[in-house]
Amino acid sequence: MGMTEDLTYWTHEQKCLKAVESLAKNSFTALYCPTPQAAADYIITNAADSVTVGFGGSMSIVSLGVEQRLQEQGKEILNHASPALSRDEKMEIMRRQLTCDLFLSGCNALTLNGELVNIDATGNRVAAMFFGPRRVIVVAGRNKLVDGTPQNAIERVKAWATPPNSKRLNFKTPCADTGFCSDCNSPDRLCRVTTIIDRKPRFTDLHVLIVNADMGF
Ligand code: SF4
Repeated sequence: MGMTEDLTYWTHEQKCLKAVESLAKNSFTALYCPTPQAAADYIITNAADSVTVGFGGSMSIVSLGVEQRLQEQGKEILNHASPALSRDEKMEIMRRQLTCDLFLSGCNALTLNGELVNIDATGNRVAAMFFGPRRVIVVAGRNKLVDGTPQNAIERVKAWATPPNSKRLNFKTPCADTGFCSDCNSPDRLCRVTTIIDRKPRFTDLHVLIVNADMGF
């Protein structure tokens, strides 16, 4: 890395470490990962005692390439993203994700005070994040960090995450056309369930990995 890249990486590192410190104060198991590879290895290690592994549909998790590694280890993969699945099959997988051994998810935004903010259309992903699975590992790239309040984090999601996600999923929303949120009332509106997890949920072994790399939206 050149000097500019070094200093940029160092600056991001300080924000990531601040988020990890806050998450730990909020009783989460929190870890700084200098690279996506470190996050992938952490997931593989922590999946050792899991039989079923659920995937919440996160681009950050997809980019880690852990699904194939877990499949090769004989884990049962619960991923509803395959286009070959019928609607009923997808629904069944989403229900089973709620009681899987290990659930893997990204995070739409995370404040430096250690609060996880997510917006869902169906709600299956956010539900599995706070109750049901025996263990949950959330992976957040440095681009998800917000130096502000949960409200600022919601604004981040609607400005930077939902428009590209709407476009990716081929949803007919105004933000998929313009790139801007207009607080729509479209039948395809993605923003239907908003969650703020501000302390570790009592009965969920929730790990949060903060990665010093841009990941997902
Ligand atoms: S409210 Fe509608 S326009 Fe705004 S981000 Fe959500 S889906 Fe897009």
